[in-house]
Formats: sequence, C-alpha cells, structure tokens
Amino acid sequence: MNKYKVEKTEYLQKILDVEAYSKQEAIEQVKKKYNLQEEVLESNDLVKTDIEIFNPNKFISKLDILKEKIDKFNKDRDWDQFHSPVNLSKSISIEAAELLECFQWSNDKYELEDVKEELADVMNYCLQLCNVLNLDPIDIINNKIDKNEKKYPIDKSKGVSTKYSKLWYI
Ligand SMILES: [Mg+2]
Repeated sequence: MNKYKVEKTEYLQKILDVEAYSKQEAIEQVKKKYNLQEEVLESNDLVKTDIEIFNPNKFISKLDILKEKIDKFNKDRDWDQFHSPVNLSKSISIEAAELLECFQWSNDKYELEDVKEELADVMNYCLQLCNVLNLDPIDIINNKIDKNEKKYPIDKSKGVSTKYSKLWYI
C-alpha cells in the first residue's frame, strides 16, 4: 500500500492524505472520507504526488522538506550556535517589526514583494524556534485554535474584537 497526497487547493485549500493501492483508489477514499461530489475529484491533476517517491516508509510533507532546507542553510553556515530560543524569539519580533514597516506610511499602499519577504522571515524564524524547542508547528497551532474556540465562544465573540478576559463581562 502506498501513500498518496490528494491536493484540492481550489476547493478546500488543504492537502488530504490517504493510504491506497492506486491513485484511483486514493481518489475514491478522499471522496468517501470528505463526502465530496463526484465532479470535484474527477480531474487527474488533483492527485499530485506519490509519497513513495520521497520515502517509502515515511510521509514527508512540504513542511518537512522546508524544515530540512532551513536546517541545511544554517548548518552550511555554522549558524546553529546563534539560534538559542531567546535569540530566535528576538528575531521573530525584529522581523515582525520589519513586516509592519511595509505599511508604515500608508494603510493601503504597500509593496507586496516586500511583504512576502518579511512575512517569510517571520515564519522562517518561527519554524526554527519550533525546531530548537522540539515542537511540531502544526500541533501547537491546532491546539491553540482549540483553546481559542473555548476562550471565544461564538455567542459572545461574534463580530466583536474584545479580548477574552473582558468578554465574559459583556
Ligand atoms: Mg527581514
């Protein structure tokens, strides 16, 4: 049995991973699992990658590949020595300020290329901090969203930007 990555960016903007013996079976599984309409998954180009191309035993996601690339970049330069949690936290904050600088003098005029670069810098340092602290970025974001769902119940928070600590007095 192989692992397949079925990508449905246009519709769900997420990657669905399934185990199957063939691409066709992978499509059938995704249809069933997500209760999708027939036509949504008819096109072959939605099945992007046989995961086995990378490694027959381990699912390697785009995020894993990116993390390896960042790791190699740092190792090649012997920069790991500078990447303590506190230094990386400072770097996240510095890059976040550079992101804000893109919008310094106007609310609606900005260079998208500059925004892309600074946003990438922020996320790059976030991933490095996860790596140093041995945290899975997907897991911690998932967990925080679960927490936020409890902190911000829809009936109290819909349409208002009030912080959770004050929300309960409303
Ligand atoms: Mg920067």
